[in-house]
Amino acid sequence: MVDAILAELRELEGPSLFERTEPPIRSASAEYRILELRKALTNTRLRRGGDYYASSHWRSVAAWVKRERGHRCESCGSSAGLHAHHNDEYVWLGEERPIDLTVLCMGCHNEAHGWPRKGLSGSPSGR
Ligand SMILES: [Zn+2]
Repeated sequence: MVDAILAELRELEGPSLFERTEPPIRSASAEYRILELRKALTNTRLRRGGDYYASSHWRSVAAWVKRERGHRCESCGSSAGLHAHHNDEYVWLGEERPIDLTVLCMGCHNEAHGWPRKGLSGSPSGR
């Protein structure tokens, strides 16, 4: 389901923001559909064990940003258990730009969200 949403988003939005230099010009109906798709994506994220973090899109974005930041937590420098953290409450879900993501270790990621440390093991990896 997530892959279908992401495929339609990519079709409507054109090249990923990783590759794009100019803002795209789109029809109002395409913009409206994009909003619907983003909402659907956000809903899958909120479901426990949601599909979004298992999608090939997210896995490649997370791998890319970890590689780009040298496989280190940007807060404490640790190289263990790294997650790609969304800085802005998932506004750019499905179309993350490098500036929207921070590489954090589990401890720093939990702190960023205010999650209790005990909750670590329940948090899916790769986020
Ligand atoms: Zn850290």
